[in-house]
Amino acid sequence: MWAIEHDSREFANKGKPNEVKRVMNMLENKRVLITGVASNRSIAWGIASAMRREGAELALTYQGEKLKSRAEQLAEEVDAQIVLPCDVADDASIDELFSSLRQHWDALDVIVHSIGFAPRDHLEGGMIDHINRAGYASAHDISAYSFIALAKAGRSMMAGRNGSLLTMTYLGAERVLPNYNVMGLAKASLEAAVRYLASDLGPEGTRVNGISAGPIKTLAAAGISGFRGMLTKAGQVAPLRRNVTTDEVGNVAAFLCSDLASSITGEIIYADAGYHILGMYED
Ligand code: NAD
Repeated sequence: MWAIEHDSREFANKGKPNEVKRVMNMLENKRVLITGVASNRSIAWGIASAMRREGAELALTYQGEKLKSRAEQLAEEVDAQIVLPCDVADDASIDELFSSLRQHWDALDVIVHSIGFAPRDHLEGGMIDHINRAGYASAHDISAYSFIALAKAGRSMMAGRNGSLLTMTYLGAERVLPNYNVMGLAKASLEAAVRYLASDLGPEGTRVNGISAGPIKTLAAAGISGFRGMLTKAGQVAPLRRNVTTDEVGNVAAFLCSDLASSITGEIIYADAGYHILGMYED
């Protein structure tokens, strides 16, 4: 029997999550491709760490040469033997990724899509004042279409394995949040893609889900005007009265991509300390 081993001192950890110490091997024998590790603050890094702890074999991708050495260093920490470039804005790069991956692995169980981008000048002020056709297109291309592109490219390697695709989304897909603007539109498209992909790939045994994470200080988040204020406010008013960590999101990701979640597909799961349930909060 496995069980999560927690720091059992009641209330001792109020204000921060208990650390999950025990390995449950939820992902033993699973081969996982993780995109989006840009630094050790990346959500993808929390996911890679949790998945490794749970016994997964990992391959990491990085966006371009500039991120290569950091990705290789981080890969060592999670025993990832495979580290490959992939710019998801480029179909040839996606094709190359999967042909290289096939040289190492004959099959794949999980793809984690942890990628988002919008031009910085779109992430401030009112949406209507800052949006243009090119910014709309690139935000949707890189933040939403790329999930579908990875699903298409990995489809044959994943079919029939009870595998799982996972993406990262945010409350801005459903509600208006200050300065999130075109990213909210792109995340809405991404969440719809989760449902359509789940419907298309379910008959092949592949599950498709998203995690809607609360705000976390990462490189991508730093591009959103006023992000620090959003982070502070969310931590003050969320039911758990704190922000979430990349480790916590990683734990949810590990569960969702494991066989323990075998009945869950087409779903967006919130890992946001409960913030999304609020209709209003008292100052
Ligand atoms: P991050 O900056 O660490 O990760 C973003 C990643 O996107 C980077 O690794 C970057 O290289 C990659 N990327 C961007 N354009 C790319 C391209 N063309 N090809 C390949 N990779 C590309 O930031 P993060 O916060 O960990 O973001 C990961 C995901 O989590 C994003 O989808 C983001 O929208 C989502 N998310 C973040 C938060 C938050 O508050 N940080 C909350 C909810 C959801």
